[in-house]
Order: sequence, then structure tokens, then C-alpha cells
Amino acid sequence: MIPRSIQQIVTAHQQKEGAGFLVRRPVPTSGLDQVDPFLMLDEVGSVVYAPGKAIGAPDHPHRGFETVSYILSGQKLHEDSTGKTQLISAGDVQWMTAGAGIVHSELPGPAFKAAGGLAHGFQIWVNLPAAEKFAEPGYQYLPASQIPQAQSPDGLIDITVVAGEAFGVAAAIGTHTPIWLQDWRVSPGAKAEIAISPSFNVAAYVFDGSVSFGPDATLVERGQMAIFAAGDSLTVQSTREAGRFLLLAGEPLNEPVSRHGPFVMNTHDELVAAVEDFHAGKMGVIQR
Ligand code: MN
Repeated sequence: MIPRSIQQIVTAHQQKEGAGFLVRRPVPTSGLDQVDPFLMLDEVGSVVYAPGKAIGAPDHPHRGFETVSYILSGQKLHEDSTGKTQLISAGDVQWMTAGAGIVHSELPGPAFKAAGGLAHGFQIWVNLPAAEKFAEPGYQYLPASQIPQAQSPDGLIDITVVAGEAFGVAAAIGTHTPIWLQDWRVSPGAKAEIAISPSFNVAAYVFDGSVSFGPDATLVERGQMAIFAAGDSLTVQSTREAGRFLLLAGEPLNEPVSRHGPFVMNTHDELVAAVEDFHAGKMGVIQR
């Protein structure tokens, strides 16, 4: 196998989202618009909220792509214009297809808001190909107990397989295009190599400790995202300490991207239409 080298390391910048919560965002960032088909990666928190103080993102629309919520700590209440309500707790994943258009809210779960505590998680935006940007809106939800878990042959890496496959374990979530999204927890002394399609774009965002990648065992530290060059495998090792990272890999769409706020289309005219359709109520409202 030809292990991928690191082509670029970007450091996440911090900014506020929703009602004002802090996120760390490695993509998009200056000089990196996307890792096709991944449009955005936000690490939400970690932040400790006092009782009654947790905040989220009230009613807002999306069209043309998918939003993935993966919660490590805390609890999120999702409500949407298709009439669905979903409590998303620690370890759970919600893979939402905005498609033709949806309005949703992402607020702290009532019990979590009342008690306060540690909030930490991810939101990832995955693009849809032009032919599927008007797919029917909806979502897949998996509680933590139903997300497949894999382990490296040396037993020193544990992997939550949200999408794709790792060491013979396949995900339970279905995706519109070939995509891997996995949470890798690497113990000291671990070393593994995993085959990944040479046609995929591959990135790894380290959010705890540090992890070394590639034939030169290049160290990537907390808050950094590595973008990998061509190859047909990824080598992962711990050379210094334990580490944890999100693996993002997928077949690039190679289509024009026109994005504005919560809408991601192929052309400017389609963006204008999305804003008009939202204001005309065509993406619905959340009935409460
Ligand atoms: Mn949203």
C-alpha cells in the first residue's frame, strides 16, 4: 500500500455560532474552502454551562446538503418543519438531509439545560451532488449503543464508525455518496494502517492529545486538521501520548459550490431561489 503523506495542516479558528456559542472551525478557514465533499467541520465547545444557561441555534433553514451532529457530552433537542422531534444525547449521531429545504432548531435538551454541565460535540456539513440537492428532507438517528465500534489489530485504537468502514466493521448510516466519518481514539504505542480508496479526499481533525500520521509519522496536535496527499492507505500512530481524532474521507463531488449562510447550491441563481423560497415559507415552519 502507498500511505498518504500530510499535504497541509490547518489550525482551527474560533468563532461564534447560533445564539452565541463558541466553535472551533478548521474548515472552512482562510485558504481552505472545503475538503470536498465536506463543507464544514465545527467542534462545538467544550464549554461548561451553569444551570439554565446553555444555548443553541433557534429556528433556521438549510437546503442543498446534509448536517451531521455527533454529541460527545451534553444533550441537544432537534425539532423540524417535517414535524419531527429528536433528543440527541452523548454518543448519539443525527445525520440530517436538508435536501430541498428544512427548517430546524438545535437547542439544549430540557434536562441538560436545567442541570447545566459540559457541552462538547461536532457538527459536520456534507455536500450533496447536484442531482440530489432537492432530495426529500429528513434524518437518520442512531443512539450511541447502535453505532458500530471497531478496533485496530493491535487493540490499541478504538473507533466509532459513524460512516464508512474500519477494520471490517461497516457503518449503520447510509450516505448519498461514498463517505467515511469516524471517531478514532488512539492509545499510547498504537500503530495501524487502514486502506482508504485512492479516489477519496482524506482529512483528520485532532481534538484531544496528539496523533502522528503518514510515512514520516508527522505529529498533529489538538485543534489541528491534517489534509492528506494521494495514496491508498492511512497510517496512524501514537508516538508521544494518547490522542483522538475525527477521520473525514469521501469521494469528491468536483462540482461548483455556491454557498451563503445555511444554503449550499451549485450556482448563484440557485442561492437566490433558496433565500426566496425560505422567505416564502416553502421550507415550512416548526409547529409548536
Ligand atoms: Mn442547523
